[in-house]
Amino acid sequence: MGKLDEILQGMKSVGLSGHIRPDGDCIGSCLGLYNYIKSNYPDIETDLYLQTFAEKFEFLKYSDEVKHEPENKKYDLFILLDSSSIDRLGEFQPMFDSAEKTVCIDHHISNDKFAMENIVVPEASSACEVLYELLDEDKIDYNTAEALYMGIVHDSGAFKYSNTSMKTMTIAGKLMSKGIPFTNIIDNTFYTKTYVQNQILGRALLESVMFFDGKCVFSVVSRKEMDFYNITYKDLDGIVEQLRIIKGVECAIFMYETGELEYKVSMRSNDIVDVSAIATYFGGGGHIRAAGCNMKGTIYDVLNNISEQIELQLG
Ligand code: 5GP
Ligand code: MN
Repeated sequence: MGKLDEILQGMKSVGLSGHIRPDGDCIGSCLGLYNYIKSNYPDIETDLYLQTFAEKFEFLKYSDEVKHEPENKKYDLFILLDSSSIDRLGEFQPMFDSAEKTVCIDHHISNDKFAMENIVVPEASSACEVLYELLDEDKIDYNTAEALYMGIVHDSGAFKYSNTSMKTMTIAGKLMSKGIPFTNIIDNTFYTKTYVQNQILGRALLESVMFFDGKCVFSVVSRKEMDFYNITYKDLDGIVEQLRIIKGVECAIFMYETGELEYKVSMRSNDIVDVSAIATYFGGGGHIRAAGCNMKGTIYDVLNNISEQIELQLG
């Protein structure tokens, strides 16, 4: 029996959710757990709440059952995945607040430990990896395995980021043994980009600016550009990663306009800069090598404020 099986004992209703603007790990961990509960505990009334997500994730079983609007429901248990702070819950927070018991399963070093029970493993590659260890291996079916594998792939950059460990690979291997189409999962959800996604990537790279002697790189996508290409934030995945791998770069910053003088900032670093500390300083969070926050001001203000913090670390 896994720890999660123990947590589920006696529960009649369970609500699940992840963070706003859900990414691969968030969707994978939420749908992985949803599948696990649905197939092993059919008598528990289970609902999963997430904001809408990219079509490429819809191959996962039960993605059509995900609820995108909050409901006025009180759950025995509410489990939040891949979320480091309560504000990451967005419009689903009232359901978390009203639940009898709350559990957070996460891997962010910046986690606020805001739930009644917090299972946070900062060394883990992904929320999916943390979740896997709470499940009973024998109760993981094909559909759960697909979702968990996908989440691990996304947060580990297809097993290459520094958060990838022997444990990550062992778990991935065990999930592969369930017969999942692992090549397709990686290609279709991680590498494949639509034509416009490639166009906006190209544009962001073309207009990127290097500073601090080539140690940092910055690029921004405006609302006007997003409107021109008819894209949303879901199409900007991977741009900051492409900036990070520029030779000589230590820290990459990518941002897109979310409103009047408002930007969503993504940061990545290679060896030195703790971007989680910088994101947390500006009210966001994340991991040492990958973090984000929301910032207000002109592009110049935002970049100035962030680069000041980077400079403090670079010395
Ligand atoms: P990304 O740059 O891909 O949006 O996010 C990188 C990492 O930072 C993810 O683990 C994500 O959860 C975290 N992150 C990004 N934006 C925010 C934010 O606004 N607040 C917090 N707490 N974490 C964030
Ligand atoms: Mn994650």
